[in-house]
Amino acid sequence: MTLRDLPEAVAADEVRAALVALGSGDLPTHGGRTLAYVYDSGHPEVDALAREALAAYAGSNGLDPTAFPSLAAMEREVVGFAARLLDAPDGCAGTVTSGGTESCLLAVLAARDARPDLDRPQLVAPTTIHAAFHKAAHLFGLELVLVDVDPTTFRADPAAMAAAFTDRTVLVAVSAPSYAHGVVDPVGPIAAAAAERDIRCHVDACIGGWVLPFLDGAGGAGGAEAASTPAWSFAVPGVTSISADVHKYGYTPKGVSVLVHRSGLLRASQFWATADWPGYGVVNATLQSTKSGGPLAAAWATIRSFGGPGYAALARTARTATLEIAAAVDGIPGIRVLAPPDSTLLAVATDESCDPYTVVDELLTRGWFAQPQLPFRGGPASLHLSLSAATAAHVPDFVDALRASVEAARAAGPVTVDPGLAGLLGSLEPARLDEPTLAGLLAAAGLAAGADASTGEAGLRMPERMAPIHALLAACPPPLRATLLTAVVGRL
Ligand SMILES: *Cc1c(COP(=O)(O)O)cnc(C)c1O
Repeated sequence: MTLRDLPEAVAADEVRAALVALGSGDLPTHGGRTLAYVYDSGHPEVDALAREALAAYAGSNGLDPTAFPSLAAMEREVVGFAARLLDAPDGCAGTVTSGGTESCLLAVLAARDARPDLDRPQLVAPTTIHAAFHKAAHLFGLELVLVDVDPTTFRADPAAMAAAFTDRTVLVAVSAPSYAHGVVDPVGPIAAAAAERDIRCHVDACIGGWVLPFLDGAGGAGGAEAASTPAWSFAVPGVTSISADVHKYGYTPKGVSVLVHRSGLLRASQFWATADWPGYGVVNATLQSTKSGGPLAAAWATIRSFGGPGYAALARTARTATLEIAAAVDGIPGIRVLAPPDSTLLAVATDESCDPYTVVDELLTRGWFAQPQLPFRGGPASLHLSLSAATAAHVPDFVDALRASVEAARAAGPVTVDPGLAGLLGSLEPARLDEPTLAGLLAAAGLAAGADASTGEAGLRMPERMAPIHALLAACPPPLRATLLTAVVGRL
C-alpha cells in the first residue's frame, strides 16, 4: 500500500450530499408503499426518537454488560416486554439478537449443543420454514429434515411432522406465521408430539410476534381471533423457544430481534464462553462478540414510546389493511389470495392469464414494491405483501394500482423462457457451472455486464423490468436458482 493509492479526505457536506445521492435509487423505507423488507409505523416522531437513541449508543459495546450496564438494563426490558407478549412463564430467559436469522440460528445452536452425545443431530421443519433454518443446519452441521405441508392450507401437517422425529431429532421448528404464505402452523399437536420425545420445539414468530398477540388474542393466551388461527405462544405446552423480530412489526430500526426460551436451563447451551487465550474472558450470548448498543437502544426507546396500547393499535391497523386488500384481491380477475391470512402477510397468486412477475414490475412503475416469490414444490409463483400500519391510509390507492397492474400484465401476455434454454436449465449441475456458462445465463436473463464508469470495474446493470429474470429463475431447479442469485449478488 502507498498512501497515494487511497482516496483523499472528503468534506463533511460533500459526504452528506453523497449519502443522499446514494440513497436515491433505493426503495423508500417510509410511506407504506414498500411491502417487504421495511416496516413503517407511520409515527415519524417515534422514528426520530429511535434514531436519537441509535446515534447516542452507536459506539457503546454490548460485548461486556458489566462495562456497559445501560445495555444490560435495556436488554432486560426489551426481553421482558417480549416475554409478556409471548405468554412466557416465570423463569423464562431471553436474549436480544441482531435479527431474525440470528435468533433462529441460536435456537438451533442451543438445541444442538444441549445434545453433545449425538453425532448427526437432526432439525425437523415444514417445507415452509424460513430459509434461516436451512442456514442454521448448514452452518452448525445438522441434518435438515423437511416435511411437506398441507397443499391447500400451506400449514404444517402434524402427523407427518411427528412421523419424521427420530432419536437424533434435537429440534422441531414451526412458524407463526410462515413468511411465504402468512399462515400459522398447528403448533399445539406438533409441540405435544415433540415434548413426548423430549425434543425441543421452536416457534418462529419473527414476523408475527409483535402482531398476533394483539389481534383479539389470535393465537395468544386469549384464544384465536379467527377460529382457524392456531395457538402458538408459550401458552402452548411443549413450546421451548420463540423468536420475535423487533425490527419488523416492532417498528424499530434494523438490527434487533428477541429469542426467548421457556427456562434459563434451556438457554444455557446458547452461551459460548472461553478463558483459554491470553486476552479478556469471552462470554457470548449471541453470534456477535463486539456489538453496537445502538440498535438495542433504538428498540428500547421505540418500545417505551408505543407501549402495549400503541402496538395494539398498530397491529389492528395493519391487520385491517391486510383484510381489506385480501377482500379486494378476490374481486380482481386473474389473481387470488393463496391462503386466508392469519396475520399481516399476503401471498397473491395469478392464474395463466397473467404473469406474476410482470405484475411486480407494473406495480413498481406505479410506486409500489411487492416481492416476487418463485414457484415451489408444485405451488404457484406469487407476490408477497407485508402490510405495515403506514400502508393502511393508502389501501384504495394500492388496490387501484394492483388492478391496473394486473390488467397491464394480462394485456402484455406471458413472459416465456426459450424452450431450448429451459431444457438446458434442468440439466445443468449448479456446483459445476463454469464462468462462460454462468455469464451466458445472466445475459440470457437480460443482465448486461456493464463497466462501472467511475471505477472501470466490471459490474452488472439491473434492467428496468425484472420479469424476464424471474421467469428464468422460475424455470430453474432451486439449487440452480441459488447459484444464479449468488452470481448476481457477487457481481453487484
Ligand atoms: C424475517 C424472518 C426471518 C429472518 O429474519 P431476518 O431479520 O431477516 O434475519 C425468519 N423467520 C421469519 C418467519 C421471518 O419473517
